[in-house]
Amino acid sequence: MAKKDDIEKCCLCGRGESPTRPLLTGRSGSVCAECVQQAYNLCKDAGFVADANSKNKKAITDKWAIDYESLPRPTEIKNFLDQYVIGQDDAKRYLSVAVYNHYKRLLQPAATVGKDDVEIEKSNIILVGRTGTGKTLLARTIAKMLKVPFAIVDATVLTEAGYVGEDVESLLVRLLQATDYDVAAAERGIVFIDEIDKIARKGDNPSITRDVSGEGVQQGLLKLLEGSVVNVPPQGGRKHPEQKMISIDTKNILFICGGAFEGIERKIAMRLNTHVVGYNNDAKDLVDRENLLQYIAPQDLRSFGLIPEIIGRLPILTHLEPLDRAALRRILTEPRNSIIRQYQKLFAIDGIELTFDDEVLDYVVDTAVEYKLGARGLRSIVESIMIDAMYEMPASKVKKLHITREYAAEKFERTSRLKIS
Ligand code: ADP
Repeated sequence: MAKKDDIEKCCLCGRGESPTRPLLTGRSGSVCAECVQQAYNLCKDAGFVADANSKNKKAITDKWAIDYESLPRPTEIKNFLDQYVIGQDDAKRYLSVAVYNHYKRLLQPAATVGKDDVEIEKSNIILVGRTGTGKTLLARTIAKMLKVPFAIVDATVLTEAGYVGEDVESLLVRLLQATDYDVAAAERGIVFIDEIDKIARKGDNPSITRDVSGEGVQQGLLKLLEGSVVNVPPQGGRKHPEQKMISIDTKNILFICGGAFEGIERKIAMRLNTHVVGYNNDAKDLVDRENLLQYIAPQDLRSFGLIPEIIGRLPILTHLEPLDRAALRRILTEPRNSIIRQYQKLFAIDGIELTFDDEVLDYVVDTAVEYKLGARGLRSIVESIMIDAMYEMPASKVKKLHITREYAAEKFERTSRLKIS
């Protein structure tokens, strides 16, 4: 039996009870509220309990649990990307490494962080490449093999708080949805922010014309990139007072940003002290003027209108190559779900074997180049060629269809005359 004196004093700090320091009394002694709080903080810092403000946070569910042994290595991630995305080796390598490092960060047990003073920081990425060169495709493809929650969001919907549009926090709603509102899982996820260039500051002097989708939004985004606890409206959209917010810590969320940054070549050219048109000395000869994006550097993003703090939080900058004829030709047939394979599958469901002459593929590529449609145009061109057959053949007895160049040219010219100008 404990002595009365033991019961009335905290067995850890030895102090008695006070109005601000109640005692928790057990069979053989007491402990005061301050010591309980200290014990709690100690456990929390060591990673034994969830974050303080997180009644709704659960432990990571099995679905999102990762272990080192089973993690795909960067080369494996890239090999997977190769099956779906043509070219873009640089971007693929950077992405593969970033995703792998993200896993490694997540594997650092909270208890060991800081013990050896080495805490792996996250490295958000920015992908710059002309529209239709595969930025979103890369993101969607990598999502298929990820072991953490993933969401693709669009920066164009963002505006500064108080303006029509969405607040920056709403970018995290998709991630929450991807985890079925499992906050702990969402806090380890990856967010791909498309069209990041659309929130660039338009002019050099933002105070003259109010720039609702520029610097203010970038400041908001900065908070997310840096890592902070933000309140997210669970249904998305604006913050309505009646909507109960969910707080999410973005410290461990990896952000991958993508944008076309149209016109940034001029900034790069200026920096390289060359001109997009014409050059006249040897040093400038070395510059590949057709593909200036390959020389992109952080200061070009700054000249384009991103604030330095945002650029600092996107330490990995990589570019996508423009797609030339050869790449477009490969895109038609090589990816696992290439456009040609998709049409063949559509016909196969009706029991029809669909084949193409090689010249048809050249014709499709030539047309995409001629109309400056890029990779996005390939599908609409093939669709124009195939529409009549897709309409007529399911009801016919013919079980084989071979497309020749003449057939393709005739169908395309007839069906697309009005559509593509
Ligand atoms: P971006 O996001 O760069 O504007 P997308 O990734 O949306 O471009 O590309 C549009 C479409 O073009 C894709 O859905 C895909 O069909 C095709 N495409 C673009 N680039 C590639 C590529 N490198 N490899 C395979 N297909 C591609």
